[in-house]
Amino acid sequence: MMGLEELFTSENAILEQSREIAAREGLDAETCRAALLTLSAHYQRLMRESYRLISRSDRAERELTLLNEQLRQLALRLEYEATHDPLTGVYNRSAIINQIGSALHRDEAALILLDIDHFKAINDQYGHPTGDAVISELIKRIENSVPHTGSVGRVGGEEFTIVLPGASVGQAAVVAGYIHASLNASVLNALPDRLVTVSLGVSWGARSSSFDILYAQADAALYEAKRAGRNRVHYACQLAS
Ligand code: GH3
Ligand code: MG
Ligand code: MG
Repeated sequence: MMGLEELFTSENAILEQSREIAAREGLDAETCRAALLTLSAHYQRLMRESYRLISRSDRAERELTLLNEQLRQLALRLEYEATHDPLTGVYNRSAIINQIGSALHRDEAALILLDIDHFKAINDQYGHPTGDAVISELIKRIENSVPHTGSVGRVGGEEFTIVLPGASVGQAAVVAGYIHASLNASVLNALPDRLVTVSLGVSWGARSSSFDILYAQADAALYEAKRAGRNRVHYACQLAS
């Protein structure tokens, strides 16, 4: 990189020369005029150069601000895509598992695990795109039954879970009941021919209890709901007694 001395070689020479001229006594007007002209020409060049540098750095700063904003948006999008299911917009499997873990760490929590009934038949009869539309619309309806404190996640193809932090079994039963009733109340626009129902398993864990047990119990309850005929809510065994 060029040193300051090198950068201003000609300016330094002019400055030196002007000082020498100014130090002489009894100078004639013509010599003074010539020295002033040289000095003012260089002064003007310096001003032009400074102006150019200032606008260039303003432009660089604006570009940097824009790039920073784009980077921030990109980070937000990446974070969203890493934690959400693209079809339904709910949390993906790893994100919802994290949420259940941290919910149990803070407080008691209830878990609802649900699986669409006879979904393979829906796919087979109406095609995969209709199946996708059914999943999306069904999840929208389910989200309307879940309180704001709860989170919905997709844990498998047509299997979803809802974590209710700080909820009692009774509160979870109300939410599961709402979901069950809302799906039985009317058909979905995506499939006007028939009702789409789900089977639900509900479990509850005390603060600091194990995620694995909470999940396994909801899964066992879901299995029981399927076995008992589907389109119903079952509770983890120790709760039912
Ligand atoms: P059950 O009542 O016992 O749950 O029966 P089921 O037919 O729903 O269960 P099964 O596990 O046999 O079938 C689930 C089907 O869901 C199989 C799979 O092709 C389909 N599936 C999984 N993910 C998607 C998806 O994202 N879109 C569509 N359209 N189908 C999916
Ligand atoms: Mg199913
Ligand atoms: Mg399934």
